[in-house]
Amino acid sequence: MEKTDSLLLISHVKKSFGTLEVLKDISIDVYKGDVVSILGPSGSGKTTLLRCVNFLERADYGSISLDDKTIDLKTATKEQASEIQRKTGFVFQNYNLFRNKTALENITLGLTSGRGMSRADAVKKGMMLLRKIGLEDRANSYPSELSGGQQQRVAIARALATDPEIIYFDEPTSALDPELTDEVLEVMRQLAQEGMTMVVVTHEMNFARNVSNRVIFMDHGLIVEQGSPEQIFEHPQNERTRAFLRLAS
Ligand code: ADP
Repeated sequence: MEKTDSLLLISHVKKSFGTLEVLKDISIDVYKGDVVSILGPSGSGKTTLLRCVNFLERADYGSISLDDKTIDLKTATKEQASEIQRKTGFVFQNYNLFRNKTALENITLGLTSGRGMSRADAVKKGMMLLRKIGLEDRANSYPSELSGGQQQRVAIARALATDPEIIYFDEPTSALDPELTDEVLEVMRQLAQEGMTMVVVTHEMNFARNVSNRVIFMDHGLIVEQGSPEQIFEHPQNERTRAFLRLAS
């Protein structure tokens, strides 16, 4: 894909919890259609980074530019934060579906009460998305009636419902049994092929290698190395990246 449109610029993000410096100075440039995988040992700050750039957590320093509009991550108003959240999707490790709502309702909620879409239009869109993830026949099922893989697919459909410019995935398959992981990765692979811009924190090396076009390796709150999957997997330059990949393989 031709890389011309820089969509999202994450600049100099810093975040501490008490005395623990979790993000030391993180900057990432994301282009339209990019699939960026973020790898790194547990505790290196990957989840915190996603949460900070989507205002689920307040950063201590840094900014993001989306659509050429720059917003300070520390001082943004509630309205500015909501505006960013409206333009982005977030897929959580534990799905975060409403337990008392059906699959279809989980998807349509953000369209009706969130955006004032008519119920009929929201249902139409919800059904289209359920078809896309292969769960049309489970529209009226509650999360407890779905497998973890199915719940995560619904969560992806929910993220897609509002036509986000970018979707963040926070270890989307790490709560799943291995046999359910593939169906979620397959949906993500399909989205990538359709040109969806995605930033994915993952431990799935095959996904990082075969689906993403850029891999970022984080350790101790810093980006240690980044490059194409080939550069990172075949020719890692940094010793910490090498050690991590040795353990992960
Ligand atoms: P990763 O996603 O790379 O595993 P995290 O971003 O989840 O890393 O966590 C980085 C560090 O920040 C960890 O030491 C974690 O315990 C700590 N941490 C994360 N969230 C909080 C929080 N809300 N309060 C205190 N410490 C936190």
